[in-house]
Amino acid sequence: MLLIHSPVSKPGEPPPGLARLAFALKSNGVGCRVWDANLEGLLYLLERPVAASDTWSRRAAAHVTENLSALRSPTICESLDRYKRAVMDINRLVHKTGRKTGSHITLANYVDARFSPVRSKDLLRAARAFDENPFYPFFRNRLAELIGNDHPELIGFSVNFMSQAVCAFAMAGFVKKNWPDIQIIMGGGLVTSWMNIKGFMDPFYPVVDDLIGGPGEDALLSITGHTDTQAVSQAGVDYADFPLDAYLSPGRVIPYMTSRGCYWQKCRFCPEKFERTRYQVFDRPSIGFDLSRLRLETSPALIHFVDNALSPAFLNYIVNNPPGVRWYGFVRITRHLTDPDFVHGLKDSGCAMLKLGIESGVQDVLDSLNKGISIETVSRALRTIRAAGIAVYGYLLFGTPAETYEKARQTLAFTLAHADCIDFLNLAIFNLPVGSPEAEHLQTVDFYPGDLSLYREFAHPNGWNRNVARRFLEREFKRSAPIRGIIKKEPPFFTSNHAPFFKKLSVSNF
Ligand code: SF4
Repeated sequence: MLLIHSPVSKPGEPPPGLARLAFALKSNGVGCRVWDANLEGLLYLLERPVAASDTWSRRAAAHVTENLSALRSPTICESLDRYKRAVMDINRLVHKTGRKTGSHITLANYVDARFSPVRSKDLLRAARAFDENPFYPFFRNRLAELIGNDHPELIGFSVNFMSQAVCAFAMAGFVKKNWPDIQIIMGGGLVTSWMNIKGFMDPFYPVVDDLIGGPGEDALLSITGHTDTQAVSQAGVDYADFPLDAYLSPGRVIPYMTSRGCYWQKCRFCPEKFERTRYQVFDRPSIGFDLSRLRLETSPALIHFVDNALSPAFLNYIVNNPPGVRWYGFVRITRHLTDPDFVHGLKDSGCAMLKLGIESGVQDVLDSLNKGISIETVSRALRTIRAAGIAVYGYLLFGTPAETYEKARQTLAFTLAHADCIDFLNLAIFNLPVGSPEAEHLQTVDFYPGDLSLYREFAHPNGWNRNVARRFLEREFKRSAPIRGIIKKEPPFFTSNHAPFFKKLSVSNF
């Protein structure tokens, strides 16, 4: 079996979903190879930059080797300007190569005007027109090599983001054309969301033989004749097939998942709520064992916990069982984060950064989103985390149905009052998920026209529509000096994945 992580997503760390599948398959005796075609594909483009007439691209091409090795070195974090220059130069080359084939490629995205990832017909066309894909010269040779060496009976594509869909179908189309007997399967977060669209009828046959919604461990094991496994609920990852030193990060980052779903699962408009993903916690002693093993085997600079929200129970566990490596992850704001002893415990366990869904600075907006937090708790948590020396990556959401211009301005005031506690900021405009029951009470139209569209555009009850909210962000929110200062610190393209590298630790053992 060959499992493929298709282009394009951020090439900063190996994909955790495939590492879990590899572990489940190998530990049940199923032969499998995992291939990060995203990382390799982007490096392939970088090694063969198109001839450029502009000064920036020529400079970027001349320094590509130097920039790649700088980006893989921790010393680059000593200068944010040097880091930004290296990232922007590398991105410039990828972007230029894409333009030659009519696609817009960055280090974090792939957009192709010819093939929309929200239209199944376009994805099937991308599969037929595989030789028009900018990665075709790369995957043609590598797939032939991998298939020739391993003779896989099944190839699985992991598709988690819209930016991966078109290239995954192009690769699938190429395989089907040349090796029609190989079974093709697709899974991953995006495929799971497609399968949750009301009335979704698998439109991808005969390019894709089967789709897997949700966790793939037991489904793949069952396809290979292992029907009595419980791999889905067990901790374990296998990064042996991944070229850990080739990722573009100032240190090795090992992603790790301690649970599936979300322990809260109540935020209105969150897919975790209405897709009803079952919350599953992996066995804590196994996680501890696994983290120790990973520390010895992979020497990570950073562990990225990729859970939707690390629970207070897990945080308590990690305070008492520090992994011995710096770590970061998404945490729901709870009263635990207002307890200085608890937060210092997190810091001492190696916590470099917490990602926090603050969403709004207004209580009734938080209530309407069912966040289950009080704005006083948010304020106290931010101050406690700051005092402990942990970085905060805050997420704000504008244009939600309960928000108005006045309330958005209150969020601006709240952010300014806590600007010294927020290191990085993500500002997003609200998208209405297509399957959300709340969508029924709002007047909606297609966000992007297409049978695979996951969002709906809606007429805001108070006229606070996306374009108005966006204008507010550009003309008012981002203009104030403290917020400009926060935004300037954001690592381009890699954003939260690289942010913890820019927070110096004061704890001597990390
Ligand atoms: S805490 Fe996060 S993942 Fe959980 S329901 Fe809320 S938004 Fe969704």
